[in-house]
Amino acid sequence: MGINRRNFIKLAGITVATGIGGKKVLGELVDDTTGLPVSQPTTDAPPLTAKRWAMVIDLQKCREQTGCKDCINACHHVHNVPDLGNPKDEVKWIWKQDFEGAFPSSDHKFLEDEVRESPAIVFCNHCDNPPCVRVCPTQATWKRQNDGIVMMDMHRCIGCRYCVVACPYGSRSFNWRDPRPYIKEIYPDYPTRKRGVVEKCTFCAERLVRGEIPACVEACKAKAMVFGDLDDPESEVRKLLAEHYTIRRKPELGTNPEIYYIV
Ligand code: SF4
Repeated sequence: MGINRRNFIKLAGITVATGIGGKKVLGELVDDTTGLPVSQPTTDAPPLTAKRWAMVIDLQKCREQTGCKDCINACHHVHNVPDLGNPKDEVKWIWKQDFEGAFPSSDHKFLEDEVRESPAIVFCNHCDNPPCVRVCPTQATWKRQNDGIVMMDMHRCIGCRYCVVACPYGSRSFNWRDPRPYIKEIYPDYPTRKRGVVEKCTFCAERLVRGEIPACVEACKAKAMVFGDLDDPESEVRKLLAEHYTIRRKPELGTNPEIYYIV
């Protein structure tokens, strides 16, 4: 199964633009089952680019969709995230966290019960100052210089789990067992992983290169998730940040998370 030529060129272009070694970017598209590159869907859309990708999540809109898990289901499907059926071995890229656990440093005393008692959608914050990157001994995780995405190359990961410990948000999962038998329906356009590696959200870097927005954003029927360029004053994320008071997770740690929440 060969990689599509158009997408190879796109990926190579991004590699050159970012100064990242080609092996690293292309490595994300190699399937652990076969060791072969994963073919990417053909698309004529140009890649989506930004100087600093970020997301704004409107929890008010999210709360209106009680019990909705569309973003989680979409993300986990297109990334072949296994469902191991028990919290101890859980692998997750995006999940719901109780409000006080998600924002432990915010003052919740006078918040409405509805706000305090509703969960928040959480995932990797693509921190501007990511501690996970600093501790990785093999550069299996790194922050892209061109757009700020904190990437993960499972083929460079040696399973030391320093990044899991360093991340103060629980955004990284370790594969304690072979995840493949626990994938409900294999999605052919994304690699599966193997036992002993860490994984996490990558802001759908593989979709951006095809001109597609992140799967979670696309799946959200409430339009509660907005993805865009923080460096562009005309972007929707910047407009939302200008119009609304937003909070971030554990800002006092200095990681500078790039996920903003309207509560
Ligand atoms: Fe790293 Fe965790 Fe920040 Fe994501 S949320 S960039 S995994 S420290």
